[in-house]
Amino acid sequence: MPQATIDPALAPQHGLLTLRALEDAGHEAWVVGGWVRDALRGVVAHDVDVCTSAPWPQSKVALEAAGFVVHETGTAHGTVTAVVCGEPVEVTTYRIDGAYTDQRHPDSVTFVTDVREDLARRDFTVNAMAWHPTRGLLDPFGGAKDVAVGVIRAVGDPAVRFDEDALRILRAVRFAARLDFDIEPATQAALRAAAPTLAGVAQERIGTELRGIMVSGRAAWALRHQREVMFAALPELAPMEGFDQRSRYHCFDVLEHTICVMEGVEQLTVGKASERLRWAAMLHDIGKPTSFTVDEAGQGHFYGHPGRGRDVSAILLRRLAIPHELANPILALVRYHDRPCAPKVEPVLKLTASVAAMSGLKRRDEVLELMHELVCLRRADALAKAPAYRIYARELDDHEAVLEKIEREGLCWSTRDLAVSGADVMAACGIAPGPAVGERLSALLADVMAERVPNDRSSLLAWLGRG
Ligand code: ATP
Ligand code: MG
Repeated sequence: MPQATIDPALAPQHGLLTLRALEDAGHEAWVVGGWVRDALRGVVAHDVDVCTSAPWPQSKVALEAAGFVVHETGTAHGTVTAVVCGEPVEVTTYRIDGAYTDQRHPDSVTFVTDVREDLARRDFTVNAMAWHPTRGLLDPFGGAKDVAVGVIRAVGDPAVRFDEDALRILRAVRFAARLDFDIEPATQAALRAAAPTLAGVAQERIGTELRGIMVSGRAAWALRHQREVMFAALPELAPMEGFDQRSRYHCFDVLEHTICVMEGVEQLTVGKASERLRWAAMLHDIGKPTSFTVDEAGQGHFYGHPGRGRDVSAILLRRLAIPHELANPILALVRYHDRPCAPKVEPVLKLTASVAAMSGLKRRDEVLELMHELVCLRRADALAKAPAYRIYARELDDHEAVLEKIEREGLCWSTRDLAVSGADVMAACGIAPGPAVGERLSALLADVMAERVPNDRSSLLAWLGRG
């Protein structure tokens, strides 16, 4: 295989200026980690990490002497962040990690002078390369070859590396998902064996890695092929495996159905599904195992499973420290994925009002976008049922048409969108401020949603005066 190279012209100015500032002060410095990996893949990442022989106080002095603002962002680990051409660049002193007694973070770090020692502490060969515009690529573990063939391989003994830091188990899956790489067999075997130790990792670190897997669009692959890891990261998923639905509507167990829905939303969006839709596809039936009943005819039912699923999802998303702005729309999708709704204006507006309330979204365009995602989820759900019931997906074309009408005609589902205000109601009905005003507005909204009166000011005032 020819020697892998990176064209220095690809390197961003803020990275090059950082290297120069450190080297002008007599230190050694390299670009490391993700930027090098991605540049070898032909993808020029924006984030640049730099490592250097300089102890952090000296990095700081050198970078400030070059005119950059420097923040002490992680000095216990040797890291300062320089702001170069408006871009943050993390600069870390060469280091090796001390013992890991808690499988979370090293008890201590030791600063070293040889960049090779720093590369050896890194997790995977593709992440353990350094690059310099004149010295070229430093690749002691064959990372460039692994990038070329698409393999995630632990640096050193994989069992030892996963034992040191269990988060690396999930990082391996995240990188494989994102880069569409295979996991090298020995690394794969060690990762499977070590999966249960993920239980000891801080939940927000797990949440961050899971988000990385979700945004890769390949979470379905992870659930199919890295099941042990996904179950260890999210134990609520495990009861879905092998769960026989005993229903004529279904031909798969709950997990396989879920994976098909996750693949379905990718197909329906041509791989452009939002992160929240991807989460919702994975979680939509998570309430099923605990809401299962069997009737006298032997048919399985899951009454109340969307509500149960919302509750289970709320707990797990909070535990993983997923921000509310992302979690609430996910919960709305899970809660309403199975709500019966005729494809007519009034029922769709009512559903929209419920989805808006649970999602916390306020802007019309944002709520309607989420409604389109709900239709997508429902379509994928229908297509993952037993063949005779996939035809339900067709009904969703009519839902989509109703949503488009709502959009086009500015139809409203909230009293905020009515063409009259509370003050108008008080004047027209001769009532004082108080709960009655809100009640009148709600009654008016119900009539507007049922298309009994158009949402224009004069019609609404006439309607109010009438009653
Ligand atoms: P991304 O594009 O996702 O940011 P990255 O490779 O830059 O990818 P980071 O999580 O930002 O990933 O970490 C930067 C580098 O630090 C990695 O490339 C790797 O060399 C090293 N690293 C990060 N976390 C660990 C870990 N838990 N164990 C060992 N090395 C790690
Ligand atoms: Mg990074």
